[in-house]
Amino acid sequence: MRRILVAFSLFVFASSPNHAWAAAANSSSIPVLLIDGEAAGPYHNWQLTTQVLKRELEDAKLFTVTVATSPRSGEDFSNFHPDFSKYRVIVLNYDGPDWPEDLRTQFEQFIQNGGGLVVVHAADNAFPHWRAFNQMAGIGGWRGRTESAGPMWYFKDGILDSDNQPGSAGSHGARLPYLVEARVPDHPILKGLPRAWMHNTDELYASLRGPGEHMTVLATAHSDPANHGTDRDEPSLMVLSYGKGRIFHTVMGHDVAALSCAGFIATFERGTEWAATGRVTQRVPLDFPTADSVSFRVDIAKMDTTFSKGLSSSPTFESLADAALEAMRKRAEQLNIAGVAVVAYFEGAPLKSWSSRMAIVGSMKKDRTETEPGTNLLAVAYSKAAEMADTLMDSGSQVRPVLRGEFGWRGGVIVRGKNGYLVAAFSGGKSEDDVEVSKDGIAVLQTGL
Ligand code: ZN
Repeated sequence: MRRILVAFSLFVFASSPNHAWAAAANSSSIPVLLIDGEAAGPYHNWQLTTQVLKRELEDAKLFTVTVATSPRSGEDFSNFHPDFSKYRVIVLNYDGPDWPEDLRTQFEQFIQNGGGLVVVHAADNAFPHWRAFNQMAGIGGWRGRTESAGPMWYFKDGILDSDNQPGSAGSHGARLPYLVEARVPDHPILKGLPRAWMHNTDELYASLRGPGEHMTVLATAHSDPANHGTDRDEPSLMVLSYGKGRIFHTVMGHDVAALSCAGFIATFERGTEWAATGRVTQRVPLDFPTADSVSFRVDIAKMDTTFSKGLSSSPTFESLADAALEAMRKRAEQLNIAGVAVVAYFEGAPLKSWSSRMAIVGSMKKDRTETEPGTNLLAVAYSKAAEMADTLMDSGSQVRPVLRGEFGWRGGVIVRGKNGYLVAAFSGGKSEDDVEVSKDGIAVLQTGL
């Protein structure tokens, strides 16, 4: 019986009219503009994920992909004017600085007039104050979004529901494989796919907020309270309209491991075609995951050179420390101060051992002057971290007299993470500036610890 079933299903694939897609690819390739340039500071490796997204679209043999990389934060945007009219769909792998008004207007007109848009993962964090963009994406997270951005959207008892209680927008637990459930299985993007499939290791976005207008949630994933989740069925795939434009929004795709999921690839390729043309001509790939098993493409996963160390699991201090120090360096440079940044992580209280990393921004000491004896900034930064490890409070808290070897100065921040304490300290500027720099380091550590 089983052999007969297999033979039958092969026959269905072989005789499927979807062969038409190959012919379509030859005759008219869909021009795609992929925009990147930044993604939540150092937290996403956008240079690499852009290469992966481009390769996946090209593999579909339906698209011609052009990449436009925006200027970085603080740089001049006046010469960044991609000609949207040359493309049928824009893929956003971008969470960076707000765009100038003329660029926003051109983008709005492109979508309004029937251009397609694909929003991938952290791109829905971008542009918290741009009303039209938030209408296009439907929901988004972080970047200071609160209830003023709109309610939280989720599925309850099989239908879309919302909750406008006050609070911040955006959260996720540790990166794990999770089950995605189709809610509109007849939509062209999902038609023929399993009703539920395991998505490879990824962040499961939850508590996203937004206007949710003209939005159809195609698929959801249950956010597990055991993994810092909401216990709600959170939107995973959405389609929206804005004027004549079609939008496909996938919240999946944190890193290469997530992007290598055969389920991500198929829904991304199909969603991009749908946003561009309103139809899907691609057949369901044979490696599409099932409800019980993840399925990922090793050739894609290997595009991340860390693949040889194993598929990415929960972030470690080691994996976030450099990004945290980089964020502190950036902030210090913005504030025009030099000095020493330290980040540290430990699990027990009292402290038994910790992991730490240090970076020098400009200079590790202040030289002696007529009136000042000079300062060992390295010693001060570690002294702040040491004080925090002892008191579990921000440095300079004055909960007790300073001990020998400490300075009792402000400029270090400590917070409780999921399983331990996160510490960041800076020495080099005024206390307020050192605190600001430290907060940026903590913010990066908090994304995973
Ligand atoms: Zn992410």
